[in-house]
Amino acid sequence: MRFYNTLTRKVEAFTPSRKGVVSMYNCGPTVYWNMQLGNLRAYTFVDVLRRSLEYMGLAVEQVMNFTDVGHLSDDGDEGEDKMEKTARKTGQTVWDIAQHYIDSVKSDFREMNFLTPVRWARATDHIDDMISLVKKIEENGFTYETDQALYFDISKMPDYTRLQGGQSLDEKRVGVREELNIDPDKRNPADFALWIKAVGKHAKQTMRWESPWGVGFPGWHIECSAMGTKYLGETIDIHTGGEDHISVHHPNERAQNYGAFQKEVVRFWLHNMFLMVDGGRMGKSEGNAYELSDVKDKGFEPMDLRYFFLTAHYRTKQNFTWDNLQSARNARLKLIAAVRKLYGSAEGRTGRVSASYRQSFISALENDLMLPEVMALVWKLLRDDEVTVEDRLATVLDFDRVLGLRLKGQTEVSPSIDGKLEKKVEQMIGLRDDARKHGDWDKADKIRSELREMGIEIEDLPEGTVWRTKSR
Ligand code: AMP
Ligand code: ZN
Repeated sequence: MRFYNTLTRKVEAFTPSRKGVVSMYNCGPTVYWNMQLGNLRAYTFVDVLRRSLEYMGLAVEQVMNFTDVGHLSDDGDEGEDKMEKTARKTGQTVWDIAQHYIDSVKSDFREMNFLTPVRWARATDHIDDMISLVKKIEENGFTYETDQALYFDISKMPDYTRLQGGQSLDEKRVGVREELNIDPDKRNPADFALWIKAVGKHAKQTMRWESPWGVGFPGWHIECSAMGTKYLGETIDIHTGGEDHISVHHPNERAQNYGAFQKEVVRFWLHNMFLMVDGGRMGKSEGNAYELSDVKDKGFEPMDLRYFFLTAHYRTKQNFTWDNLQSARNARLKLIAAVRKLYGSAEGRTGRVSASYRQSFISALENDLMLPEVMALVWKLLRDDEVTVEDRLATVLDFDRVLGLRLKGQTEVSPSIDGKLEKKVEQMIGLRDDARKHGDWDKADKIRSELREMGIEIEDLPEGTVWRTKSR
């Protein structure tokens, strides 16, 4: 496979460091609120990446974290811990909030058909690992301590700005958002806290632990270095995150790794670009964020959103509008109708995956996950009369191992019953079309209800009515 590696700013050939096994760490969500659609875009990318690697026959050791401590926000609240802030606002404990939103993330993962990471790693379960790693970094001479915190001294890191493309630190200052930049003893604004002491404005911090640097809590970045290297070792093949992490979080993780192990721990840094809304990044703190529940409240299904994400390459920004989501839904319903039709025509015959389509599919994935090309290929396949219906069916279902659109569950038919069902439904849709043409809405509605009672959902698209059975 070939991936664009942010570290080298090149598309590079990727092979795992251990034969047949890819180690992958994904920066996970901060669990102080429900995920917004931008996060879901990031994790759709992660999911398709994992599924593609597995499709190529590789095993993937995937670790994803839950950030439940230390992620500060300085957007006008002087860098309070995001978890503590929600706790203060809602009157709940930080622990209840963490548990509630961890459950919410897991539920979104199920609904979006994301494969469960091999390991979920929760930050507060790994405080000892973080302290050990910080000790190592300290022993190696990369830190200094003030009254407020223990800092990583970035002047000790030879090429600290490499991940941001060697951008000068003045520009980088803009990106410093989560730090204690009011600490008078902090030497460089881009130095970052490894351990934050529960003093001053953090005196009331409820999540706190003993440490060699006093009672306090870990800085935001150390959790990913600690949990990543604990579970995946000192060489990590792939590390992902959204483009916001290119300027602060990942350079800091990379610096910590270097401070602890004196080597480049992560080989490939992969970043997805933002999901945009109204011309800006969709984000919780931007106040422009939609959640999966909003999508469902508007009558969409999680798979519509998944299809929508699949239509854009992960390294381009994608614009969210309800119209765009509607187009994705229409396309997905047509896809389901087409696959269902193949089921009907195959009449129970088992097909084989088309070798030439499989080859094109693999080539598109190998080319830095060129999903728009993959989707075009899927449509070409469905219309390709030179491939038998059963082979088309077998091939599209095979591709769905990567697309994850749950095609099988929504289209599978039992040939003995469904041959008849197919005819009956088509006939009823024809009658309903006639009724609509003559403005007989009562009759049209009645037919729709009858279909619903038979377990058939219909939807009128500009190109005609499509139908499917409710998943069984
Ligand atoms: P957070 O919970 O804010 O730490 O974000 C979790 C993940 O979602 C990170 O990898 C972010 O980079 C990513 N992310 C956040 N907002 C967006 C967005 N609008 N588009 C794409 N990815 C995003
Ligand atoms: Zn991280």
